[in-house]
Amino acid sequence: MTARILVVDDIEANVRLLEAKLTAEYYDVITCYDGATALKLAAEEQPDIVLLDVMMPGMDGFQVCRRLKDDAATRHIPVVLVTALDGRQDRVTGLDAGADEFLTKPVEDLFLFARVRALTRLKLVIDELRKREESGRRLGVIEAAGARLGGTGGRVLIVDDNDRQAQRIATELAIEHRPVIESEPEKALLTARGPVDLVIVNAFAKNFDGLRLAANIRSDEATRHVPILAVVDIDERQRVVKALEIGVNDILARPVDPQELAARVRTQIKRKRYTDFLRNNLDQSLELAVTDALTGLHNRRYMTTQLKALGARAIHGGEPVSVLLVDIDHFKSVNDGYGHDVGDEVLKEFAVRLATNVRAIDLPCRYGGEEFAVVMPDTRLEDAQRIAERIRLHVSGSPFRLASGEALPVTISIGVATSLGEGDTPDSLLKRADEGLYEAKSSGRNRVVARAA
Ligand code: GH3
Ligand code: MG
Ligand code: MG
Repeated sequence: MTARILVVDDIEANVRLLEAKLTAEYYDVITCYDGATALKLAAEEQPDIVLLDVMMPGMDGFQVCRRLKDDAATRHIPVVLVTALDGRQDRVTGLDAGADEFLTKPVEDLFLFARVRALTRLKLVIDELRKREESGRRLGVIEAAGARLGGTGGRVLIVDDNDRQAQRIATELAIEHRPVIESEPEKALLTARGPVDLVIVNAFAKNFDGLRLAANIRSDEATRHVPILAVVDIDERQRVVKALEIGVNDILARPVDPQELAARVRTQIKRKRYTDFLRNNLDQSLELAVTDALTGLHNRRYMTTQLKALGARAIHGGEPVSVLLVDIDHFKSVNDGYGHDVGDEVLKEFAVRLATNVRAIDLPCRYGGEEFAVVMPDTRLEDAQRIAERIRLHVSGSPFRLASGEALPVTISIGVATSLGEGDTPDSLLKRADEGLYEAKSSGRNRVVARAA
């Protein structure tokens, strides 16, 4: 997993050193020596991560960070501030400026790679979500709202068989989170599904393999998005690298420094909430784009897209595709007699009957108003007609139960058509189905009419 990293420091030797370390790990590095150039490069080059020195003449790292986070073109790029050794105040100022991570000088390789790797992963998620948001128009709003999510009050699972260390971490975290301790990995895995906001695992536990647990958490569908913080011995370089490869999000060196712990936990929880938030919002907006809100069926737009794809296949020698157009009979009188809400109730109940009486490969949709459509891949006219008849009987066969307890008889009319191969289009297919529907209506309703051509 490689990434493009912009390194900014006013001292050339520092830039060269970071550049050499990152290049050796196959990262792609861009460099510059002042804030103004950094802003320009970030906007133009769109790096995946910015490593930013705090102490620079002119515009310092905090100012650069703040401007990066204020600009919609660069806001999504994670920023790592490189601070002086005991930079606690720097850290507070940096957080205010919107920094995503911190490294202290001199930069320790393992921490450098841990943080860069974690941010690369985060950036991948964000990029993926950004890509999925078709227009990107709502993304700014969603991101801005998401960025305000806090990093406190999290449910944190501590997995450790070293009781004293676990207790110390729990006591420290209890100030602003809800920690729980597990000493057995099997139980921990169950608790992690809880759900929890963060797992802290001792990578050097005596009685279980902390890295195996981390790998299990990563591969379990229910927990794969849960961040993991590994407590490590920084001298055991091989194992720390392994932990990062497995997908641990961040590392904490033993003995655990309380301030460091608090800051890392807060960062991970905030980040998780942010990506969850993005994910949920985008899933929802994607969902809205293809489904009908009242019935939960696919909408007309989605149906037309699918029909085009299937139609193209049918024309090129594939199996024929059939379409049913279904319209509720005298639906206006339901609205007029019982009110619009009852009308909606009937539409919902009908959608359920429709969806449960088509086959798994069929695509039931709300076509608009009280009109529905079913797209049937690989289906001949006779089969489509048979299924249409089955749907009709399932609607007229038993009255609809209203919320009021009343039973309301409902009937439907259906037009059926099948693709004709060469020269036939989705539009002409739908038109034939519509003609069938019209005929069904005019010849008395509650019936199925198939249009062969
Ligand atoms: P026909 O048997 O000829 O189909 O008669 P009809 O009354 O069903 O057809 P018409 O097209 O005249 O009326 C359809 C009605 O459906 C009119 C419209 O107000 C109503 N309608 C459309 N969408 C909705 C909806 O989402 N909710 C409710 N309650 N009514 C809707
Ligand atoms: Mg109708
Ligand atoms: Mg109608």
